[in-house]
Amino acid sequence: MTKYEQLEQLNKKMLACSRCVLRGTCKTVVPGEGSADAEIMFIGEGPGQKEDELGRPFVGAAGKFLEEMLATINLKREDVYIANVVKCRPPQNRDPLPEEAAACWPWLLEQIKIIQPKLIVTLGRHSMERFLPGQKISQVHGRAMRREVEGIGKQVFYTLYHPAAALYNGSMREILIKDFKRIRLNSKYVMLF
Ligand code: URA
Repeated sequence: MTKYEQLEQLNKKMLACSRCVLRGTCKTVVPGEGSADAEIMFIGEGPGQKEDELGRPFVGAAGKFLEEMLATINLKREDVYIANVVKCRPPQNRDPLPEEAAACWPWLLEQIKIIQPKLIVTLGRHSMERFLPGQKISQVHGRAMRREVEGIGKQVFYTLYHPAAALYNGSMREILIKDFKRIRLNSKYVMLF
């Protein structure tokens, strides 16, 4: 099976998932989207209202900002893979509860195992916390870290502030744009500098 077919199959399973209570309140599951061969995978926190309506990740204001930043490094959203820690919208966009993130975790690991990205970019504190527990985003943003994560082995993580948090916060926005520009794509490897 191709990576694309594997993802299609996985998406079907996610669409039928009811492992946590979020499926009871969201409209639809938002598995993720992008290239199955992506070298860079972006992982946000969870779907918001617009994402919940359309079944696609990062399609609201934060998504527009993400697309603008991707354009600054000559990438389109179709070139990367975009997913979230939880695939169902938490009510009123509250933070996902630890048990909800834990219930959804195997789906995210499966996505990473299929795509095998060279770089995983975490968007925001909650996404970072899943992979790099105990870190402070104010200290590690814009820094690449190679870590072993159970289930997916050694991976390179690059931590960014969440586009939604930075959107209307001048100084955080500047930092995010600067950090973002340090992601460089090379056909063979991803280098951060
Ligand atoms: N914020 C996220 O973390 N994920 C989305 O998909 C949209 C907004």
